Amino acid sequence: MRPSNEFIERTTPLEKRFWSKVQKTNTCWIWTGAKRSNTYYGILYCGARWLGSNGPDPNVKRLRYRAVAAHRLSWQMANGAIPLGMCVCHHCDNPACVRPDHLFLGTPRENAMDRTAKGRSPGAPGESNRHAKLTSAAALYIRNAYASGISSIELAKEFGLALISIQQIINGRHWKKIGGPIPIRRRGDNRRVYI
Ligand SMILES: [Zn+2]
Repeated sequence: MRPSNEFIERTTPLEKRFWSKVQKTNTCWIWTGAKRSNTYYGILYCGARWLGSNGPDPNVKRLRYRAVAAHRLSWQMANGAIPLGMCVCHHCDNPACVRPDHLFLGTPRENAMDRTAKGRSPGAPGESNRHAKLTSAAALYIRNAYASGISSIELAKEFGLALISIQQIINGRHWKKIGGPIPIRRRGDNRRVYI
């Protein structure tokens, strides 16, 4: 029988689970575990202590499992908590890379501009319509951030948008073409969230 996620979390340190899924090359360190289908970021399914924005929280007793972006985990293990709302970006432009010195912090705006500069912007669907307060990269960031545990309320504050606008991005009503929809989480909902 496959051991439960909780058993794995309690018996195998996260660092060990994480690095067992990484293949180091002379340049990038490549995530060999699961990846998101649209962004190609690696993901690791782990407890809420490692949720993106606030870093590991020893006070969280109850483990709620989420798919967390591998490059964000790697940055946290090397540097500590990710400031709320910040993106972890790649110097190497390789979404599967989790090498800490290839990663840097950026604001959503910097991340979106970095993507555009590197030609990795998800394209322009939606940017020309009346809902276009955001770039597609920012919309994708919102889905990533939500899937890694940042609440829609926090995201609404961060982007200065109405909560309903954030929810429409998350559930795919707006920006359908960048991927999704992902389900809106309810309190106590521990289902996996994919984007
Ligand atoms: Zn790299």
